[in-house]
Amino acid sequence: MTLPPKLSARDFTRAVAELRSIVGADWVFTEEDDRQAWRDPMFPGDARRVDLSAAVAPATVQEVQAVVKVANRYRLPLWPVSTGKNYAYGGASPALKGTIVLDLKRMNRILEVNEQYGYAIVEPGVTYFDLYRHIKAKGLKLWIDCPSPGWASVLGNAMERGLGNTPYSDHAAQQCGMEVVLPTGDLVRTGMGAIENSPLWGLQKNPFGPTFDGMFMQSNLGIVTKMGIWLMPEPEVFAQCNIRLQREDALGPMIDALRPLRLNGTIQNPASVRSWIGMLLGQATKKEVHDGPGAIPRELVPQILQQRNLSWWSTGFSLYGYEEVVEANLKVVRKALGSVPGAEALSVRKSAGDKVPDSAGTQAGVPSLGAFSTLNWPGGRGSHLDFSPVYEPSGAVAMAEYQFMRELFERHGFDFPATYSLTSPRYMACVTPIMFDADNRQQAEAAGRLFLEAHQHLGTKGYGLYRAHVAFMDQVQQAQGFNQHALRRLSERIKDALDPQGILAPGKQGIWPKAMKGGRA
Ligand code: ADP
Repeated sequence: MTLPPKLSARDFTRAVAELRSIVGADWVFTEEDDRQAWRDPMFPGDARRVDLSAAVAPATVQEVQAVVKVANRYRLPLWPVSTGKNYAYGGASPALKGTIVLDLKRMNRILEVNEQYGYAIVEPGVTYFDLYRHIKAKGLKLWIDCPSPGWASVLGNAMERGLGNTPYSDHAAQQCGMEVVLPTGDLVRTGMGAIENSPLWGLQKNPFGPTFDGMFMQSNLGIVTKMGIWLMPEPEVFAQCNIRLQREDALGPMIDALRPLRLNGTIQNPASVRSWIGMLLGQATKKEVHDGPGAIPRELVPQILQQRNLSWWSTGFSLYGYEEVVEANLKVVRKALGSVPGAEALSVRKSAGDKVPDSAGTQAGVPSLGAFSTLNWPGGRGSHLDFSPVYEPSGAVAMAEYQFMRELFERHGFDFPATYSLTSPRYMACVTPIMFDADNRQQAEAAGRLFLEAHQHLGTKGYGLYRAHVAFMDQVQQAQGFNQHALRRLSERIKDALDPQGILAPGKQGIWPKAMKGGRA
């Protein structure tokens, strides 16, 4: 039995009985076997270090509020998840041992999809597959933007500021309007939702007065029960572009060639330059390519590229819009990228916006589970820990970081599946999976050590991560040192004001409530 900190077994049993009376006996889970469903299967080490004590799954906002009231009375730490599929960053795992996971996946209604204005309002349990199928079934001319894989929650992913691959890739930026249960149980609606029955809730984010939506993202200040998310109008034409680069040192010139196109809007989605090993992950197992310890030796690369018909780098992006505009932009793109050293001819797959093939994937907002094929790479119980640094969009920076990180990964015995993505015109977010076998404890712990050393390097350059696994949130937060950690002090002041009992997700993002300063109760 795992108990919440400082709670006796007797009080825990009482609290669980109260939770059962709110959500029904079937929706509170305390048994060892049941709890396994919420442990992070990709935890880089021993997942029981932060083992949950129970999971509770309410079906309505009122039930969420009632659960929060009980949590305040017993001081039960609650960790809200929408679908809990946040793998590579912690799944549904809390940061503090004994926390109760508040699983919201039973709240799964699509409350509205508005074609005219291009938005949806969803509950936490709505997955990208759900929203995609709903739009298709109704024949609406809207596209979703999904990460890979598509089984995650639309709301949950936006809460973590997740990223997709269409022009609407920045999910936090596309969020408009929230309904939030505060840590004391009060219910608020943000944006224009503060006005009863406003038709503007999903349209205008900035109400009269301060805005708070961003405060609830990557934080532990509220439980979001509804969210508005903007949806892209289906483009007339979708042109998926790819350029292979036959030289390792072409990464820098390609980033520099892409940046102006991204900045002036010719390319609207996150153009990415992916390494050969990034391409290979989903196609083979490590053993098939190199059956030896550690990373694939450098001297084998040319031979592997030839055998597998791969290039050093593969650049992918898409163009969207009216046929004439896409054609004109294709000309511009060909001219700008054709002179990058080692660049092959641009390959283009064009389709009508309503007939894109499923294989177009996330660049056309098509959800799939294809990303799971990469898990075959390490062998055993394939897992990944994502190292996701943010850099300025510069070719020189990309080259320098590529050299440094490749050597670091290899020194720790891992291949370096680099991808440099112009996620935004003004920064690159480089989601880099550290692939490991979760049943190989040594390898899992080595993945964690690599993560921390790579993160430490970022700090020396003033870079940071856009998102991090729950196991390392304290360390990542610690790097925000400006003015004696002024940002943390601000977060803590807000945390203590909104959550005086410290019940909501203690330790998330390295922010701990007053009673637990310095971490782990
Ligand atoms: P997904 O299934 O989309 O990957 P999760 O449900 O795993 O997302 O959520 C990821 C993280 O985001 C959670 O661990 C939690 O910290 C936060 N989160 C998700 N949904 C909510 C919510 N409804 N309210 C508050 N925080 C949430």
